[in-house]
Order: sequence, then structure tokens, then C-alpha cells
Amino acid sequence: MPENPVAVVVGSGPVGSAYARVILESNPTARVVMFEAGPQVTTPAGSSVRNIADPDEKARAREMSQGPQSGTHRESLGIPAGVVVEGMFTAREGTFLLDFGGDGAAHAGRFPAAAASNNVGGMGAHWTCAIPRPSFSEKIDFIGDDEWEDLVSTAERLLHHRADAFSDSPIGTAIRALLTDEFGAELPEGYGPSTLPVAGDPQPDGSMVWAGADMVLGPLLDPATDEASRFELRDLTLVRRIEHDGRTVTGVTIEDLRTHETSFFPADLVVVAADAFRSPQLLWASGIRPAALGRYLTEHHVVICTVALDGERMAGLVTDEQLADELARRAQNPVDPVAAVNRIPFSEPDHPFSLQVMYAENPPFQLDPAHPAAGNRWGYVNMGYGMRKRPRVEDGVSFSADELDWRGFPNMTIEYELTDAEDVEIAAGEERLRRAANALGTFVAGPRLLPNGSSLHYMGTMRTGALDDGTSVADPWSHVWGYDNLLVGGNGLIPTANTMNPTLMSVAIAVRGARKAAAELAED
Ligand code: FAD
Repeated sequence: MPENPVAVVVGSGPVGSAYARVILESNPTARVVMFEAGPQVTTPAGSSVRNIADPDEKARAREMSQGPQSGTHRESLGIPAGVVVEGMFTAREGTFLLDFGGDGAAHAGRFPAAAASNNVGGMGAHWTCAIPRPSFSEKIDFIGDDEWEDLVSTAERLLHHRADAFSDSPIGTAIRALLTDEFGAELPEGYGPSTLPVAGDPQPDGSMVWAGADMVLGPLLDPATDEASRFELRDLTLVRRIEHDGRTVTGVTIEDLRTHETSFFPADLVVVAADAFRSPQLLWASGIRPAALGRYLTEHHVVICTVALDGERMAGLVTDEQLADELARRAQNPVDPVAAVNRIPFSEPDHPFSLQVMYAENPPFQLDPAHPAAGNRWGYVNMGYGMRKRPRVEDGVSFSADELDWRGFPNMTIEYELTDAEDVEIAAGEERLRRAANALGTFVAGPRLLPNGSSLHYMGTMRTGALDDGTSVADPWSHVWGYDNLLVGGNGLIPTANTMNPTLMSVAIAVRGARKAAAELAED
């Protein structure tokens, strides 16, 4: 290796950022150059859009992240003027639908809500920051418990983990008590209702500064550090191709989206962390096509509802004074929709689901003032049960040799189907959601299964595996099988069927890959 080896990271989300940080902190001579196709929309780079107080500024940052759906900003982001967007079905703010309905849209009729973000920080500038740990069969069986504990704790540190967020909220505490009454006896020790771990820094006024890639990058963004002097982040720079000889990667071809000039950028190591659809797409476009690439797509399916908290039950657990204090605390930061977050985690064999319960003083939608639950002084919860999808080779994304997408990459088609195994668990999850709702209050919006792709947690398309047997793309240290210096990162690496928010797990997997990569960059 040269004296100052160069690692290229493709994508600036939490996973690419974890690679940059761990490589630079573990190898004192390495340099990292991170290429991001989208624009920087927040300061510090990659920070959460949720932290922006001004509503116009927040809306602008979200719109600029929406790639082909970024409205009048499109041309300034290097997106061809000819891309016509006709989407009927809209994506979550800060994201765009892969199948947005216009020229160059993906074909995702069976997975219609598939979405992505196109900005510095990736989806991690827009996420909800829930970071539960995977458990039981959600974990990866070839990583031993002690090592996993170290990896997941490191990932928690990188993401500014808080296990106790809003634990002093009396309403949140009452919600946990009511859920424990309903479900506690049937859940294993340690897997009952609890606060949902989140990523961010609590503030003295009770609000949160939510984590984004900025917190993961940490010292890399502080000009006073040595790591910052060895780190460079280039936004609006699209990686078009990974250059390689079939075994060793030599660098990447990049396009500056401001000028549309392309050039070759040499690298000693390349990490592709460009999300679960666009990473396999970049590999495929570069002629790197392991059999499992893009296959085994999973997410967790979600049944959601909104409930008005029951006044009598809440008043038995929370005093009027406590309620007044809670509402006064909330009034200090009304733009943040989350006031307390609880969950019941996945456990086996009897609870292969995860429930998340968000309390807020207002419903997440306009409620007719004539509705009997309108203006409920105890507030509302938005709840969702997550159910797993069994990995199958039939589900996945394939790429066209003939048709290009809006970025000029081989276009994507997503195939996906729910089977009896999922239908049974979805029905059981919905039943539990009804029980949870009855325990807490009355429905304002009844249970509904969200369309495929709505979780925004896409997994399995670049699975890590113990053996190069055609069912995985990457080895146990996230190196693409058969390549010396090409790594992949992101939720696509997750090989298991799971129900939890996957970013913590993906950052933990990235820490493992980055430590090994940093050591390899130090070898002569
Ligand atoms: P991303 O964050 O998707 O970043 C990938 C980046 O790669 C993007 O910025 C993209 O522009 C860039 N890129 C793509 N192609 C190229 C290319 N060719 N060249 C250069 N750059 C490229 N997860 C949780 O765990 N908990 C949650 O509570 C949660 N809530 C969410 C809520 C919302 C509204 C959203 C949108 C997501 C949520 N997620 C949540 C998902 C979470 O944000 C993702 O799991 C996480 O961001 C994945 O990180 P990543 O770095 O792998 O990819």
C-alpha cells in the first residue's frame, strides 16, 4: 500500500459516514474521499433536517433531497431537464419514489412505496432516529456474541444512542404501564414494553437534537482534528462506475453534476454505501454481478393506526399537574412531532413483531373538529406493528441492459410478493395492534397495512454471508466475494428476516468491515 492510501466512499448516509470515521480513526495515514450524488442541504453536513426550526428552510431542505421529485431545484442538482415526473402517489418528505411515474422511473408496481433520498446524509438526514438492537434470529449467526456486543455498542456510540429518551415523560410512562398490563405476562423477561432507543442529543429544555450523518462523522467535520485534514466530502458528485480488473478495484469514474464533466479518481479501496437499490445498481452497471446481487429483498411490513388516549385510564396514572407540565414542555418545541416513544421489541418464539408507539399532543393528520376525539386533552398515539418478510431469491431488483433510468443507469424492476408466511404474521400483528389500541384508548384511524416499500427499510439486496455459495454478495467483513478491495455497506447487507429499524445493525456491520479495511490499508 502507498504511504497515504486512499479509500473512496460512495454515499454519505450514516453507513458511508461510519466507514469514513472508522477507517480514519483506525489508520493514521489513510485518506478518505466521500462522493455524494446529492446536494448538501443542512449545516453541519449531513445533519438532520428535523433540527431545522424555520418551516420554509426545512421544506426547502426536504425538497432538495428528493432527486427527480425535487421540483424547481431539479436542474441545479444536475438532473436532466427532460426528466418528467408524473407520480400520483407521493413519497415521504425528503425522499422520492423510485417508481415516480415519469421518464426514467423504476418499475416497482409490486413495491410501489420504494423510496430513496438524494442529499448529503442520505435518508439519515430525514429519518426518525429509532435505533433498537436486533435480537434472536434477527442477528447474524456467524458473528459471536462478544464481538457483536462490541460492534453494536460502537455503532450506538457513533449514532449518539439514548436508551432513556423521554423516559421522564409521565404520559410515556403511563402508556408503558397500560401496555404492560395488557401484554406483560406473555412476553419474556427483558422484552416487555420499554422506551424506544433513539439517536440524538437531549437538550436541557427536554427537546432533542436528532442525529444525522454529521454525528457519525464527528471529528471528521471538526477542522481542528487530524482526521478532518485527511477527509474530503464532495457533494453533487455522482459515481458512475467502479473501475476494476475483475479482482482488484483501481478507482471510480465520477461525474461532477455541476459541470457534467467526468473523470477517473484512483483509489486503493472502494466502499459502496449508496443504499439498498442504488448500490447493487452501481455494481451491476460496473460489470460486477454476483448471483445474489439485488435478490432476497426484504423489509418489515407495517400495520399502523392512530388512537386517542383514554382520559379515565390516563387520569388514573398521571396527575393534572403532570399533564400541564408535559404540555408546557411540548409547547417549547412544537415543530418536533414526537413527545415520547415506546416499544415492545421482537422476541421469539411468541412475539416475532415489533411495536412502536409514538405519543404526541396532536394527531398526525387534520382531525375533523366535529370528531368525538378531536381536541383530546390527553393526546394521541401513532402506533405500528412491524412484521418480518422471509428472504426469497424471487424477491428483488433486476437491472435492464437496454433501458436507462433518470440518472442514466440501467433501469430497475422490483419483483416482490407476500406469501402465506407473511400473511399469517401480518394478521397476527394486526390483532395485537387492536389489543394495544383497546388498552390505550379509542381508534381515530383504524389499523391499515401500508403498501409494500413503506417501511423505508430495504434489506437483503447485498447480503453478507459466511460462504460464497451464491446466496450472498459479501463476505463476513462486507468485501464483495472475489474482490480484494471492494466493500459494500448499508441495509442491503442484512441477511435475516427482521422487524426492527435496521440502521443500527447496518452501522454495526459497517464497523466490522471498516476495521478490517483500515488494517488492510495499513499492510505493505
Ligand atoms: P442512505 O442514508 O440512503 O445514503 C445513501 C446515499 O448514497 C444517498 O445520499 C445517495 O444520494 C447516495 N448515492 C446513491 N448513489 C450514488 C452514486 N452513484 N454516487 C454517489 N452517491 C450516491 N432507519 C432506522 O433505523 N430508524 C428509523 O427510525 C428510521 N426512520 C426513517 C424515517 C424516514 C422518513 C426515512 C426516509 C428513513 C428512515 N430510516 C430509519 C432509514 C434510514 O434513514 C436508513 O436506514 C439509513 O439512512 C441508511 O443509511 P445508508 O448510509 O446505508 O444509506
